[in-house]
Amino acid sequence: MEQAKTIFEKNKPGRRCFDVPEARGPKPEDMIPAKLLRSAPPAIPQVSEPEVVRHYSRLGRRNLGVDSTFYPLGSCTMKYNPKVNEAAAAMDGFLNLHPYIPQDCAQGALELIYDLEHFLAEISGFEAVTLEPAAGAHGEFTGLLVIKAFLDAAGEERDVVLIPDSAHGTNPASCTIAGFDTRPVKSDSKGLVDLEDLKAKLDPKVAALMLTNPNTLGLFDTNVCRIAGMMHDNGSLMYMDGANLNAILGYARPGDFGVDVMHFNLHKTFSTPHGGGGPGSGPVGVKAKLAPFLPMPRVVKEGKAFKAVFKAEKSIGRVRSWFGNTGVMLKAYTYILRLGARGLKRVAENAVLNANYIMESLKNDYSLPYESRCMHECVLSAKNLLKKHDIRAMDVAKRLIDLGFHPPTVYFPLIVEEALMIEPTETENLETLDEFIAAMKQIAKEAEETPGLLHDAPVTTPVGRLDEVKAVKEPRLVFAKSSP
Ligand SMILES: *Cc1c(COP(=O)(O)O)cnc(C)c1O
Repeated sequence: MEQAKTIFEKNKPGRRCFDVPEARGPKPEDMIPAKLLRSAPPAIPQVSEPEVVRHYSRLGRRNLGVDSTFYPLGSCTMKYNPKVNEAAAAMDGFLNLHPYIPQDCAQGALELIYDLEHFLAEISGFEAVTLEPAAGAHGEFTGLLVIKAFLDAAGEERDVVLIPDSAHGTNPASCTIAGFDTRPVKSDSKGLVDLEDLKAKLDPKVAALMLTNPNTLGLFDTNVCRIAGMMHDNGSLMYMDGANLNAILGYARPGDFGVDVMHFNLHKTFSTPHGGGGPGSGPVGVKAKLAPFLPMPRVVKEGKAFKAVFKAEKSIGRVRSWFGNTGVMLKAYTYILRLGARGLKRVAENAVLNANYIMESLKNDYSLPYESRCMHECVLSAKNLLKKHDIRAMDVAKRLIDLGFHPPTVYFPLIVEEALMIEPTETENLETLDEFIAAMKQIAKEAEETPGLLHDAPVTTPVGRLDEVKAVKEPRLVFAKSSP
């Protein structure tokens, strides 16, 4: 077992990585008001350079990521991220470009923003796209503000957003922050929007429906055109959560099936290492009538020159500093150019094929809540194991870690009991899928034969099963005292 001392426990006052000479000129205390200065130095551990390197290398080895293992975390699209993206994003001219540099010295970056907006518009069927929002949830918030501004300008008082019960938690959260009330819509027995319930929930207060398609059950809502028609007949708008765009790339365009506003998750569909809070990018695409309300700045083309415009009469204003997360945009841009139109279609084909292969292979070992063919992810349930052997989705997830896999998403979507939401993505080969399927089958067998093993899992990790709820509700952030 690796040495388990924390970096704080290794603290030895006076130990240094390297010494820097005393700064010449004014000292911080000459420039910063006394009331803003610390009274005591921060408790930063004092250690040597090899200790720092070994500390982080050890933590890195304990990490589980797409580069080390299969990572079928449903809804999160943990596809392999091609390293060429990193090379592009690390190019000096982009990396060290100051956001306040005069525009004629940043033509390349502005062109990239302009082009990427147009690529995304073409892929999704929208007339205008903003790259400003920094995450999917931020895109939702921005899209909702655009809807609000559009309705306000039309003199409409609508403050309710309809949300299917299979939706991602960020959907109702974004609505609330944007000042809307939410109204849930039921799913039918096939896992799609219940049209009767939708009809019953429509009234003149409804601003929009927030639909995820394919939805979080991994199912494409084939009624989407009808649903859009119902919304538009009611004078409401159709918002789509585009986090699952991976499944339909090159095959269907939300702008063509009635959607007015949609956010993308560049870090999911168009590959950027993500998780643990970022970095992300959540562009928003809109139909022409909503374009004047998009946030600033906007990049326009005048002759051969690219120009950033910072003011427009109807714009909702800024939602983020500067031009958004340009590093993520560069990766997405590189990814799209490298794959090309045909390659993007193959993303969808293989993502859907892989998910269906897993679903078909495991549907006799786990319960399948919805029988239909899935899109890019499949939702199974450990309900059968719970009933017969007292084994829950969480036990399955923890045991997978012992067997060398990152677990799938569990207990989401909320409408599926003991949910196991598996998204293999297109970047995995048949051998990897077969190894994962074998592990899942082994676990189903262990549930019957040695359930104790599953209750104890994981046993191969530095720490065993953690009380995640307690860790969130009662965080104990203890820092060792260290004096300089
Ligand atoms: C990931 C996801 C979101 C939120 O996106 P973030 O980039 O994590 O903020 C919203 N909806 C769905 C369906 C998602 O999968």
